Amino acid sequence: MFPDQIIDSLRGLKTPFYYYDLDVLRSTLTAVKEHGLSRGYHIHFALKANHQTRLLELIRSYGLGADCVSGGEITRALEAGFTPADIAFAGVGKSDDEILLALEKDIFCFNCESPQELEVINSLASKIGTRARIALRLNPNVNAETHHYITTGLNENKFGINEEDLDDVLDKLPELENLELIGIHFHIGSQVEKLEPFRELCSRANELNNYIEDKGFKLSVINVGGGFGINYADPNGHSIPDFESFFGLFDEHIVLKDHQKLHFELGRSIIGQSGSLITKVLYTKSGRAKNFAVVDAGMTELIRPALYQASHNIDVLTSELPPKKYDVVGPICESSDTFRKDIEIPELHRGDLVAIRSCGAYGEVMKSQYNLRPQIASVYSDELA
Ligand SMILES: *Cc1c(COP(=O)(O)O)cnc(C)c1O
Repeated sequence: MFPDQIIDSLRGLKTPFYYYDLDVLRSTLTAVKEHGLSRGYHIHFALKANHQTRLLELIRSYGLGADCVSGGEITRALEAGFTPADIAFAGVGKSDDEILLALEKDIFCFNCESPQELEVINSLASKIGTRARIALRLNPNVNAETHHYITTGLNENKFGINEEDLDDVLDKLPELENLELIGIHFHIGSQVEKLEPFRELCSRANELNNYIEDKGFKLSVINVGGGFGINYADPNGHSIPDFESFFGLFDEHIVLKDHQKLHFELGRSIIGQSGSLITKVLYTKSGRAKNFAVVDAGMTELIRPALYQASHNIDVLTSELPPKKYDVVGPICESSDTFRKDIEIPELHRGDLVAIRSCGAYGEVMKSQYNLRPQIASVYSDELA
């Protein structure tokens, strides 16, 4: 990912910055096309993972739609060239203004998370004389005991409509005349590394699909969400997620009726491995038991380690000295502002460049201006001299 020629070009740029390798993104999208789109699956890219317009334009050019969780994301998706028919709107707390924007733009579908939300969308749609296509986000209650990385598909969390409420919702729907039920939606969590939870999701989705269709509703959209994980430990060895197995599993286990299409909303697995945060060593210092490398990026540029104890690989770009053990830390006055502890990397000196890897998803989008830190640049591989 970082041949000498690239490193030479990166050296001249003001750090820190996000660097996107468009070849990795293109290869990823090619795999998505080969194993997913070619099966007739509809795949929406989750903008919450990354909303850089350059990247969105490339993603759109491969035939993906946009999965948005705010009015801002809907606006961005439209700016990047997605048509309203490509846009789904999800989220547990859609505001009236956001709903009105989505109605006015006539987006493809609202993924709805509560009985009250259905009533609100219905009344806003009625007020402006339109109808909203909706999918019900159902809580599949996929068992977390055995898969603790699943955090959003359980009954006790804030997402989705629980099974106990489903009958009431379905009974009430015919009265909500400005809503058109077109599908059901699930999302079990993020960074799901094994396939087994998705197999469980398929069987729950099949049951619920049959149950709702048997009540006389016609569901054209079966949306199984996103959440497919990436390999943070070995970004070079696994730069492209195993989409063959992922989509193959759904092909094998989802049962679709003739009028139904399978939809996905993938974020991390599409963009995660394309991005790195490039940062410069400001200081090295030795404590009694540790060596620290203080770099010029911090939790303000990449919050995942501080927020989720996430571990990102760190590649040293400009030193080939024998390895030394470091804590790589940022400049912010918070002890959690630490990227990695006790890693063996080539000895570092002030001015060395390092790449914090697998930052394409939930990296740049979560940056903040805490400490009044300056805005940073996004650099794309095809722009380098
Ligand atoms: C976050 C989210 C996604 C995307 O998740 P990834 O783990 O990035 O694939 C898809 N659908 C919903 C409803 C989400 O909240």
